[in-house]
Amino acid sequence: MAIIITDECINCDACIVECPNNAIYEPDQEWAFSDETELSGMVTTLDGRQVDADASNEPISDEFYFIASDKCTECKGFHDEPQCAAVCPVDCCIPDENHVETEEYLLQKKAWLHAE
Ligand code: SF4
Ligand code: SF4
Repeated sequence: MAIIITDECINCDACIVECPNNAIYEPDQEWAFSDETELSGMVTTLDGRQVDADASNEPISDEFYFIASDKCTECKGFHDEPQCAAVCPVDCCIPDENHVETEEYLLQKKAWLHAE
C-alpha cells in the first residue's frame, strides 16, 4: 500500500530527499507524475486512468508535507522499508488504508514510473 503523512507532521523536510519516486511534496506544492520520473505526455495508469503526466495537480495538503499516492511504491524495488517512515522524527508516515496495494502491484508501479 502507499504511505500517508498524517497531521502530526512537523514539516521538518527530512523525508523529501529520501523518496526514490519523488512522491513527497511540500505543503501547498503542485505535483506531477513527470516530476523526477520517466513519464511524460498522456499515459495510462496501472488502474486504467488516462492522465497527462506533465499536468500540475492540486496540492493534497496546504498545511503538511504530503505524498502523491499514485507515485508511492512503499519504496519497493529500491529499499527494504519505506524511507520516509525510516527518517521521520515523529513517526507520522504510516500505511494508507485507503490505498492498499500488493507487493507485485507496487513493483509494477515502480517499473511504470521509471519506464523499466
Ligand atoms: S514510502 Fe518510499 S516511495 Fe512512498 S513516499 Fe515514502 S519514500 Fe516515497
Ligand atoms: S520527515 Fe516526517 S515530520 Fe518531517 S516533513 Fe516528512 S513527514 Fe513531516
